[in-house]
Amino acid sequence: MPEVLCLGEALVDLIGTEPGLGLKSSGCFQLAPGGAVCNVAIGLARLGVKAGLITKLGADPFGRFMLGCLKKEKVDTSLVKITPEHLTALVFVSLDKNRKPSFFFYGTPGADRKIEAGELRRKDFAGVKVFHFGTISLSLEPSRSATLRALELAKEAGARISFDPNFRFHLWKDRQALKAISWRLAPRADLVKLNEDELLFLTGEKKLAQGARKLVDAGVKIVVVTLGAKGAFFATAGYCGSVPAFKFNPVDTTGAGDAFAAGMIAWLLRFKRLPPEKPEMEKAVRFVNAFAGLSTTRVGAIAGLRSWSEVSRLLGKL
Ligand code: ADP
Repeated sequence: MPEVLCLGEALVDLIGTEPGLGLKSSGCFQLAPGGAVCNVAIGLARLGVKAGLITKLGADPFGRFMLGCLKKEKVDTSLVKITPEHLTALVFVSLDKNRKPSFFFYGTPGADRKIEAGELRRKDFAGVKVFHFGTISLSLEPSRSATLRALELAKEAGARISFDPNFRFHLWKDRQALKAISWRLAPRADLVKLNEDELLFLTGEKKLAQGARKLVDAGVKIVVVTLGAKGAFFATAGYCGSVPAFKFNPVDTTGAGDAFAAGMIAWLLRFKRLPPEKPEMEKAVRFVNAFAGLSTTRVGAIAGLRSWSEVSRLLGKL
């Protein structure tokens, strides 16, 4: 049985291999597994956590590619459904000169957004310790209702909740609707991880600390804000602080935020109390900065994900 269940998008990233060219000039694309929630599940598996994914893939070559990747990574795929009615979603990724990715979701909504609430069973959530989700599956029906249902089932099962908003604005006709659903769900989460732009958009604040405070005041137990090469900021009802990033030479920052989410969830499983004492939180964020930073040193969202012992070994040396 998985300890962590993630629900959401599993899709294929086609990454333009020459940074700075833009999609229309890219001659060559590298195939890689992607989708924020899928990346989180794989990140967890690399860290030795038993993670399962709830998603849908098309009965097509890309779906088979994704299923093969998930199995190879030892992600529990018993709740991955294959449908002949919809195609596996494709996302084209272009890297700018600083290796920052932009995403272009190709074609009509893919199989990942066809997960249905009726396909979820209460028994699938029994014993699950953390449930993780984002907003892509909330952007359309039927996956929106499926996400809400899964959150209910996870809460009933007593799981801790992790929410990474991971805003993809072009998937929403109305940004206010995205904000509204995020505000409806965030207070139900024990952990909300997001980047600075997302925090400022969501809270309407201009300052990091004030934005994070707004989420904590709404009931989120732990807010962690990622700051790219600057590291991460954290806030709880009792304290806040930040931990600098480690120095790496990134070749592709795609999925760094997903790696960060996976790392924080691995710690969410370890924390005895929520929120933990401040020194434990600092230790966790330091570890997760290393795990996420390392993920940027290889091309693709998952190629750079290391194991728990590799990260610990590196931290011993840093
Ligand atoms: P997102 O991709 O969601 O915007 P960030 O860019 O903030 O996420 O990156 C997430 C985390 O990955 C950071 O908090 C940091 O730990 C690590 N990271 C990202 N970029 C770098 C970098 N250039 N150097 C070192 N660590 C990085």
